[in-house]
Amino acid sequence: MFKKKLEYSFIILSILAVIYLAKNYYESYQFKHNDIPNEYKNRIIQKEKEVLNLMQKHYGYAYKVPLIITDKFKGRLYGLCVYKDGEVSIYLNKKVMQESIDYMVDSVIAHEYAHALMFKLGHISKNTDGHSAQWREACVKLGGINCGKYVSKEDVIMGKLPF
Ligand SMILES: [Zn+2]
Repeated sequence: MFKKKLEYSFIILSILAVIYLAKNYYESYQFKHNDIPNEYKNRIIQKEKEVLNLMQKHYGYAYKVPLIITDKFKGRLYGLCVYKDGEVSIYLNKKVMQESIDYMVDSVIAHEYAHALMFKLGHISKNTDGHSAQWREACVKLGGINCGKYVSKEDVIMGKLPF
């Protein structure tokens, strides 16, 4: 009797495991081939609003730039701020979003917006990698976490897109 019960439990557990794996597979498959999940989109939009509100508060205007989510990134960069022909755009790496959505929302959006703001303010220097003291101050004011350290020094692009 006890043995039978154990067998049933095992079968049920196996079925649950298969369902769980299938669901995981489906989710990552869907993520790869379709747009990002709405939950991520909403979090990004919400964070951008917060960043722009903070910009309004500290700098007197909200400088909104196109925020583009793309899977065309090469390598492991989280985000990019691109300045081309007088236009500033921010790109977020879709490929690392699933594993790093919290980091994207908490740190990367404010980080890249601080770069955008530097372009807007004319604080552009070809001699630095873009992470100046002014940039750091802006990053903090825009609500960024981890403005002291940055993962990549090559996230500011002037001119042609790297992809
Ligand atoms: Zn940066």
